[in-house]
Amino acid sequence: MSDTPCPLCGSAQKMKRPRVLYGHQVCRRCWSGFITRRQLAWIVDVFFLQFVVGFLFGFFGAMAGSGKEPATGPIVLAFVGVLAFKDGFAGHSFGKWICGVQVVDRESGTPAGFGRSFLRNWVAAIPLMPLVIAFSMNRGPRIGDGMAKTRVIWKRYRDHPVFSSPAAAAKVFE
Ligand SMILES: [Zn+2]
Repeated sequence: MSDTPCPLCGSAQKMKRPRVLYGHQVCRRCWSGFITRRQLAWIVDVFFLQFVVGFLFGFFGAMAGSGKEPATGPIVLAFVGVLAFKDGFAGHSFGKWICGVQVVDRESGTPAGFGRSFLRNWVAAIPLMPLVIAFSMNRGPRIGDGMAKTRVIWKRYRDHPVFSSPAAAAKVFE
C-alpha cells in the first residue's frame, strides 16, 4: 500500500489497490468513474446515432415517397459513417458531451476534429471490435487512440497532470 494520495481526488485511503491511468497511479474509485463515463458515452452514442440515422432514412424515404422499407445495407453504412466522425465536434460526441469527457491531441491537448475522430473510430466498424475497444481502455488509451494520436480526458480534471502531461500519455503507447 502506498501513502501517496490519489492525484485526482486527493484521498490516501482509497489508494489500497491503485489503477494506472495514462501512466499515473490513481485510486480505484476515480479510475472506475472515468472508465464508466467513457463506456456510458459510447452506449449513449450508439443509441442516439441509431435514432438519428433511422429518423433521417425514414424522413427522406417519406420525402421520396417510395413507401418501401429502406434496405439494410445503406442504413448500416450510414450508421458506421456517423459513428466514425462522431467525436469531431471539438472532441465531443453527444454521449461524450453528456458524460463530461473529451477527445484531445495527446501532445498538445487540442480538441479533436473530424479527421482525428475518423482515425480513432473507424476500427469500431469491424464486427465485435466495439467489445475489444471497451476492454482495451483500462489504462487510458484504447485501440484507435494510437493511430489518431489522441486521448480521452475527464474534462473536470482537464489541467491535471494525469490528463495533461504529454510524456506520461506517450509512455503507455509504447
Ligand atoms: Zn481518486
